[in-house]
Amino acid sequence: MRNWHSELKRLLLVMAAAAVTGLVLGELTLALLIALALYVAVNLFQLRRLHLWLTRNTADDHSDPPESFGIWGDIFDGIYRLQNQERKASAYLENIINKAQESSAALEMAFIMINKKGNLDWWNLASEKLLGLQYPKDRNQSVTNLIRDPLFADYFHRENYTQTLKIKAPGDSQRVLEFQIALFGEHERLMIVRDITQLHRLESMRKDFVGNVSHELGTPITVIKGYLEAIVDNMDELNPKWQNPMRQMRQQAMRMENIVRDLLTLASLETEAMSRQQDRINLAGLFQEIDNDLQQMFEEKSHKFEIECDDSFELTGKRSEMYSAISNLVVNAAKYTPAHGKIQLTAKKTKKSLLIAVTDNGVGIEAKHIPRLTERFYRVDSSRSADTGGTGLGLAIVKHILSRHNGELLIDSEFGKGSKFTCKLPLSRLSTGTNKTAPLAIANEAASIS
Ligand code: ADP
Repeated sequence: MRNWHSELKRLLLVMAAAAVTGLVLGELTLALLIALALYVAVNLFQLRRLHLWLTRNTADDHSDPPESFGIWGDIFDGIYRLQNQERKASAYLENIINKAQESSAALEMAFIMINKKGNLDWWNLASEKLLGLQYPKDRNQSVTNLIRDPLFADYFHRENYTQTLKIKAPGDSQRVLEFQIALFGEHERLMIVRDITQLHRLESMRKDFVGNVSHELGTPITVIKGYLEAIVDNMDELNPKWQNPMRQMRQQAMRMENIVRDLLTLASLETEAMSRQQDRINLAGLFQEIDNDLQQMFEEKSHKFEIECDDSFELTGKRSEMYSAISNLVVNAAKYTPAHGKIQLTAKKTKKSLLIAVTDNGVGIEAKHIPRLTERFYRVDSSRSADTGGTGLGLAIVKHILSRHNGELLIDSEFGKGSKFTCKLPLSRLSTGTNKTAPLAIANEAASIS
């Protein structure tokens, strides 16, 4: 600002000197014009120096600004200062980008950036190893052209990335990859791919082990239970001191048998892929069958059982599995509701889902237990559960069955008041009297590696 005032003063002085000289010589106008022309010439000269310096001053040539004074000195210094700041900022950013690239190259996971058109934008070194991407050939190629698995295309376009996708590696069926996508920016995607071959192998070994052990235990338990039943049936021939232990042994053998049966069910749900050929299940008929099969249980505890379901509701899925899931929930409702309780089984259609709910006015569950209920062997109260003949595997089975049907289990409960277990299934699985065609065209998710 100081230099700006000096510059104005300088201009006024020049003009005053020119005016005085002009008056003395009797050529005022000419003198003023010459003074102005000189002033403009000096400024043009400075402007030219600035232009030359700026054109010479490229990213590689950082020459100092030309020496100058007054307002022009300020302009040269100011530009020089801004240039230096910008150079420092871009060096800092370059350093960060280099570090990000180096660290992403050192990662074993593939990171791939995909633009809003679904084309590859950038990827790290691991992507070339895991997915065989080649730079620059594959840049701007559509990701679904490079990863041609239909399950991947389905996952990519669905845009609901809460779950990961596990499929075989393109061109190498021995390896299993896990895909996870996150949306960011203007509909761009960051895709993370991991090689989980080893993990998958261990998981398969675990499933096989549980399946095999349960299978092997089946026969010995049946034999033990058979003998124990025979002994209990002829209790009067037994020494009285052995009568109670025998009853307990038979009860525990029955529990063991139930556990083995449920473990085998879980093992087959985990290992067997859902077949493409699915049943068309009339829900009202299925509910009625469950009612008939559990009549004795309801009568024993004097429960009132109510069904509400549209006769036209038809569900596409595995009938045996849906029977098992819903009856498991109804049995639980009956078990965990004191005598004279009320249990309802309903099916309702909303905009996006089919909701099959089992509601009871039983003991209810404290909120802290709810997130863990579907874990294997998790029980709210193990002594009560053992009394009711529970295995702690029922809800894990329900959860598995629903996920095989692209659904989920929702649990609402209030301690002391009752519970509501809802099977939420996609509407695409439901057909009513008016839309008979839709459900069989269901994407078979179970084909992905589970
Ligand atoms: P269990 O064989 O022990 O019943 P589940 O997996 O079916 O095993 O259920 C897990 C736990 O959830 C049960 O032990 C019980 O404590 C609780 N539970 C399940 N259903 C109900 C219900 N309708 N009301 C209250 N508690 C329930």
